[in-house]
Amino acid sequence: MKAAQIVTPKEPLQIKDLDIPKVSDVEVLVKVTAAGVCHSDLHLWEGGYDLGDGTFLKVTDRGVKYPVTPGHEIVGTVAEIGNNVQGISVGDEVLVYPWLGCGECPACKVGDENLCDTPRSIGLFQNGGYAENVKVPHYKYLAKISGIDLDAATSLACSALTAYTAVKKANVNSPEFLVTIGAGGLGLMGIQIAKAITNAKVICVDLDDKKLETAKEMGADYVVNSNIIGSVTTGSGNAAQKITSITNNKGADSVIDFVNAPQTVKMGLAVLRKRGNLVLVGLFGGSFELSLVTIPLKAITIQGAYTGNYSDMLKLIELAKKGIINPIISKRYSLDQANIALENLRARKIIGRAVIKP
Ligand code: NAD
Ligand code: ZN
Repeated sequence: MKAAQIVTPKEPLQIKDLDIPKVSDVEVLVKVTAAGVCHSDLHLWEGGYDLGDGTFLKVTDRGVKYPVTPGHEIVGTVAEIGNNVQGISVGDEVLVYPWLGCGECPACKVGDENLCDTPRSIGLFQNGGYAENVKVPHYKYLAKISGIDLDAATSLACSALTAYTAVKKANVNSPEFLVTIGAGGLGLMGIQIAKAITNAKVICVDLDDKKLETAKEMGADYVVNSNIIGSVTTGSGNAAQKITSITNNKGADSVIDFVNAPQTVKMGLAVLRKRGNLVLVGLFGGSFELSLVTIPLKAITIQGAYTGNYSDMLKLIELAKKGIINPIISKRYSLDQANIALENLRARKIIGRAVIKP
């Protein structure tokens, strides 16, 4: 079978001819229909994360082994099942839950495998969906899907799921104003989910007017271009000031930062009101010095959000079936075009998500 693999970080992915994985016991082989191209695939391709001050967290130090097939947003058809698989049959259309844990640590025991101490995620620690087939280690990580567009359903495994976790964390004390930073794959889902499950007015921030136009279509009440120079959306002026004035100078109740770089986090902190919540999601990374006194004086909460659990993925499938959330798939690539897909995502040319169709 064909697979697009990262063999060496920063080098082009290689199209390899690999053996189709054999499945036994509780394992399932899924023939991939579509795999979402997440910005996290870019971090994996780059070899890790920017910790700031010139330091870099290598994914190999977290247990990733190259060569690896990326792709954690996977929809496909069940091609083969092990002899102890239950409730799943050959031919079923399924969404793969990729955030596999050890099953034994405190997080896994309460169903939060995404927060496992020793994660085994598909498309990161084991081969993922940029391939004709993917092996899923247990049938319990599959969800049958019907009545939703299969390409769009890929987003429910990461971009929508992560956004859902973040919005839930931001939705405390009935926020009146919720700021979302970054209107990419995650951010656009964040807006839709925030409009669906909170009563907040959503203010979306991005550098790119095209993304902000889509953000408005997805339900953002206000949009602010933080790259003020050259922006037709907001004209001149400081983005933090613009946001604060939208909130009638009270400040935002919650900020979800889907970028999480020094300039965005600084802006998030600047616009946050007393008792506010800052939820950090993005992995763009970096670091900056934090002035400590304002945190207790304003009694703000700063927290991280990492993907989501299986039961929330099922809830998102229901929201998508009802049309309450609609992941945007704007580009489709073949497996041979995996490098182009990643380059285009890096160049901010993708609206919403692109998928690879092996
Ligand atoms: P994306 O490339 O689709 O979107 C990023 C968006 O951010 C783009 O619209 C871009 O224009 C905008 N942007 C970039 N820099 C900006 C800045 N300085 N100010 C304002 N806007 C800016 O990426 P994505 O797939 O949505 O992922 C976003 C980030 O979240 C990535 O770092 C990704 O790795 C990370 N991520 C985290 C989790 C998690 O569980 N915490 C899960 C998936 C992805
Ligand atoms: Zn992802």
